[in-house]
Parts: sequence; C-alpha cells; structure tokens
Amino acid sequence: IGFVAGSDPEVAAAMGRELGRQRQNIELIASENIVSPAVMAAMGSVLTNKYAEGYPAHRYYGGCQYVDEVENIAIARACELFGAKYANVQPHSGAQANLAVYFALLNVGDTVMGMDLSQGGHLTHGSPVNMSGKNYNFVAYGVDDNGYIDYDALAKQVNKVRPKLLVAGASAYPRAIDFARLAEIAHGYGAMLMVDMAHIAGLVAGGQHQNPVPYADVVTTTTHKTLRGPRGGLILTNNEYLIKRINSAIFPGTQGGPLEHIIAAKAVCFGEALRPEFKDYARRIVENAQAMAAALTDRGVKLVSGGTDNHLMLIDLSDVDCTGKELEHNLDEVHITANKNTVPGEKRSPFVTSGVRVGTPAVTTRGMGPDEMKVIADCIADCIFDFEGKKAEVADRVAGLVERFPLYQ
Ligand code: PLP
Repeated sequence: IGFVAGSDPEVAAAMGRELGRQRQNIELIASENIVSPAVMAAMGSVLTNKYAEGYPAHRYYGGCQYVDEVENIAIARACELFGAKYANVQPHSGAQANLAVYFALLNVGDTVMGMDLSQGGHLTHGSPVNMSGKNYNFVAYGVDDNGYIDYDALAKQVNKVRPKLLVAGASAYPRAIDFARLAEIAHGYGAMLMVDMAHIAGLVAGGQHQNPVPYADVVTTTTHKTLRGPRGGLILTNNEYLIKRINSAIFPGTQGGPLEHIIAAKAVCFGEALRPEFKDYARRIVENAQAMAAALTDRGVKLVSGGTDNHLMLIDLSDVDCTGKELEHNLDEVHITANKNTVPGEKRSPFVTSGVRVGTPAVTTRGMGPDEMKVIADCIADCIFDFEGKKAEVADRVAGLVERFPLYQ
C-alpha cells in the first residue's frame, strides 16, 4: 500500500480501508482465506510484465525462459500435492477452469448432470444464467431431506438421464463427498466424472478429505479458498489424451496470455501446502468447524444436515423469524462477515433466503482455535435470537477477539 500511496493516494486510501476492514472483522465467508506475505509478494511482482501465450517451451513470445521455470515449478508442485500426472495452472479463475473443461470434453447441447445451485452447487455447474446452463443440457441433482447426497437416488437419476459428464463438487455442502462412489456411478453408466473441488482443495491437500484425483477423469479447483493461494484456477488429470484437449481448451480455446505473476503465487502456495504445517492447518480448519457447529447446536441453532465434516456449515433459519438476509446484516453490524445462502427446500426468495453459510478457513489462518469458535458461535446465536438486546456486547466480544489475533502485523 505504501508504494501505491506514493503515486496514487486515492486508490491507496481505499486499499488501506480494506486492510482495516480485514483486521477488524471476523471473516467467516467459507470461500475466503488470508494469504501469506510470500504468496502476496509473488502476485505483485515483475512477472506481471510478461506475455507468455502457449505453454513452457512452446510459447508464442520471446524471453519466456524464466516464466517457463516458474510455470514448470507450479505444474510439478500441483502434481505432487494432489498425486496427479498432469496439471494446467493457467486458468484465471475457477469459473474459467470449469468452462474450459466443458469446452474440452463436450459438444454444445450435450447432456450433463450437476448439483443444483440452490442445493449447494455452483453457478458453473449448469445454472440457467451461466454459460454452462446455456450451452449444455444440464440436468440438476440435489440432496435428500437430511441435506446429504443420496448416492442410490443419484445412480438411478444418472441411469435415467444418461449424461455424458457428471459434475461433482459444491459451494455450500457441509458433508464429505464420496468420489469413489461417484466415479463408480458415472463410469458404470458410461459418463465421465469431473470433480470441482474448489471449496475443499486445502482439505484434500492436507489429508482431511478423500482426494478425487484417483477417481475422476478431470479435477478442477480454485487456488484461493481452503488452499490459501492467489485468486485463480487449476485443472488436474491422469489422462494424457484429456490433458491435451484441456490445454488447447485453455489456450487458445478460452484464454489468452497466462497471468505468470499469479502462476508464481500458485507455485508458492503449492510449496506451502506441501509442508507438514499445512496438514496441521487443514486439521485445525475441520476441528474448528466442528467446534463451531457443536456450539451453535448447543445454543439451539439448526444446521443443514445437523453439522459438518469439512470447513463450512449452513445455518438453517427456516423455523425462526430472522432471515438469511437479516442475519447477514446483523453480523455485519458487529463486524462478523458471512453470506446469506439458500437452504435445501428453500421457501424464501434467493434475495432473502433461510440460510447463512459460515466457514473456518480464514479464522483458522488467523490462529483461532476451538475456544474462540465457541465465542463466535455465541455471538452468532445472539445475533439470531436477541440482536437488539445483545448487539453492543457482541461487538465488544468481536473487538476483543480480533485484537488478540492480529492480521498482517
Ligand atoms: N467452483 C466452486 C465449487 C466454487 O465454489 C467457486 C467459487 O465460489 C467456483 C468454482 C468459481 O471460482 P471463481 O470465483 O474463481 O471463478
């Protein structure tokens, strides 16, 4: 920010306010995290100056010898981290990665199955407002009344729909996903399996969730959620034919020059995730989520599926007066950041919702543990049941917590 302030005080001032917000707030958005200074420095580096269309050793520009080194390191580390044979580290984002995989594997109009957005899926898994839903014939699957994927019901649906591709993975699913079972279902009916592990990639890297790479034909992910890297995407596969198609689908199919500064930051992030400390981090994310879920339940707060196996939980407000929109607002007022979310069987509008999604990746990075999760759960429960009465007291407790766990000192 100091560098920016020297030449552009207006932008620097806004950046400074955002740093202040991050320091002051308890971050519970399940898809967010706090990167290391090394990851951040790689993003803000001279590599942003370089054009490098193509792939290492096969570029359309001169002077690529050093960005080739960086991209090769990123590819090798991604493969080592997830046990994959091939990786494409160029997708600018998770959405780009998913759309490129569809472009590589499908023809326009092909039938695909993906999890319904309102039941936990992502926009790029076939939402009618997304290119995925417009270009392909997506048929949605969902969760059962208890909030779990029903694998037997899914197998029956796959048998009926006969998709060319089954897309697994979610943005708001608090339970473990059985990728081995999904592969059995997809392959049993002649479909390919794509797993979008964006939310849980850090848990997979840290050994806290089954790794989809041995089972799926293709795995996509973002690098900025539980994996704690720069904003970006990654595609993995063990299939030599598919990686060729995927590479062509990224460049020249859907992207131009790769963001080599971001790829350098991905390499740094993968390096961090390969260290033993990251396993401990992933374990603490889940431990914290389970502590928060237990404390919320103790306060009478309902959770979709009754709890969590991963880094997130969905607060179910269907039976209380407070809506998802209201709770998000109340939490904002006391400096807790979370997002409203639909719940399975949602009765309110998507702008209001009956749910709030909360996750523990960022607070865990900040160093908080199960004791702090209990305090946060209490704050959330107070914001649901007695906001006006408890607002000032909760804001004080939040201020005390963030002071004890400083950010970017
Ligand atoms: N896939 C899943 C499961 C996600 O949750 C998200 C983002 O929230 C994405 C893909 C898209 O990632 P991006 O925002 O980088 O395009």
